Amino acid sequence: MPVFEKVLIANRGEIALRIHRACREMGIKTVAVHSTADADAMHVRLADESVCIGPPPARDSYLNIPAIVSAAAVTGADAIHPGVGFLSENAAFAEIVEAHGITFIGPSPAHIQAMGDKITAKRTMVELGVPCVPGSEGEVKTLETARAEAKRIGYPILVKAAAGGGGRGMKVAEGPENLEEAFHMARRESAAAFGNDAVYMERYLSRPRHIEIQIAADNHGSVVHFGERDCSIQRRHQKVVEEAPSPALNAAERERIGRRAVDAISRMGYRSLGTFEFLYEDGEFFFIEMNTRLQVEHPITEAITGIDLVRLQIQIASGAPLGMTQKDITFSGHAIECRITAEDPVTFQPRPGKVTNYHVPGGLGVRVDSALYAGYPVPPHYDSLIAKLVVHGSTRNECLLRLRRSLDEFVIEGLPTTIPLHQRLMADPDFINGDYHIRWLEQEFLTS
Ligand code: ADP
Repeated sequence: MPVFEKVLIANRGEIALRIHRACREMGIKTVAVHSTADADAMHVRLADESVCIGPPPARDSYLNIPAIVSAAAVTGADAIHPGVGFLSENAAFAEIVEAHGITFIGPSPAHIQAMGDKITAKRTMVELGVPCVPGSEGEVKTLETARAEAKRIGYPILVKAAAGGGGRGMKVAEGPENLEEAFHMARRESAAAFGNDAVYMERYLSRPRHIEIQIAADNHGSVVHFGERDCSIQRRHQKVVEEAPSPALNAAERERIGRRAVDAISRMGYRSLGTFEFLYEDGEFFFIEMNTRLQVEHPITEAITGIDLVRLQIQIASGAPLGMTQKDITFSGHAIECRITAEDPVTFQPRPGKVTNYHVPGGLGVRVDSALYAGYPVPPHYDSLIAKLVVHGSTRNECLLRLRRSLDEFVIEGLPTTIPLHQRLMADPDFINGDYHIRWLEQEFLTS
């Protein structure tokens, strides 16, 4: 007997396919939901059943809670997987799903709520002894408080949205002269993007790396970590390339930060997958946020551990025990993910269009997660991520060589993509040496 009979996948694109694949291998039937713009999408074609939930704009379809819950009820789905983005960190959605007797494949609504508010999340981590980026004591409500706090913390300062996500609602003040503008802009952007203008402040670290720890916890008190991912190759605070393990960490540091995360999760009583995001500078880790969902970059962890994280997430949601302890998790080789987007590789302008020709690279250690096919019109309404190229090698060098030849083989015609950017990156001496930080791509690579 599979752990669930039927799972509704409340998402689209490559991540919907990723979840469908895990379900299929577990003997679980799938229900796809889609907007009218996605009627011919791959996730709809592959699922056992599909339901149209609204017009193209996400707020009317992939964010339409009544339509999604009705689709689950009509098709008799016993669980909903929210994927990433959209409703994946919406506590109200998780609560409504559970109130309908359907399992939400993720953590409890209370944990989603607590970690979704970054001020609460940081406060929780401070209480649990997790080191955080020095910053304001909670929300900063007025410009006067902002000035006083900035003086105490020290410039440069980052004003951040409490409800933030996707790098939005974040503004830097280099010195006191920019604080007023940064404060008001962050609040405005946050109100527009999240319907919540609460902001807080942090010391703006100058050259840190973004290092995150993947954890999993079951309903029975077992918690493990799967090591780290280095996501420092970023543009506008958004990840472009990720690798595991981080070229900057040694085994002792990995063990130390992994244990910290496991300890915090155990004490929170959290269940499901989760990710602790840290900035890492001069040998020290500073917590910035926790994501209570599957991450886009999860395949690199799967590549070096050989563990199917989506399968594990579904098993945990069914109440099954983890079935592994920390010593069962071993790391092998090196993995890198390139996020390929339908954007101009120089200006980064989104350029949706019809895919006229499509050929994916293959061979040992090469994985492509994508919902593209020849003839597919990439709709303009959603995120521009169209493919993830995930390459594994026994060493970082082998991984790089394999990644370069895979990028050379990859054919996506009919619309511009960021493949040329990745080709250039994989040949860059700093990248090859693992010598980069979160601002390296924008400040050094893209300007050269
Ligand atoms: P979001 O939820 O919007 O992704 P995060 O808090 O996870 O926001 O931060 C996203 C990125 O912004 C980080 O990976 C890092 O590049 C940058 N960032 C966040 N906080 C700081 C900070 N205090 N100093 C420097 N950079 C930061």
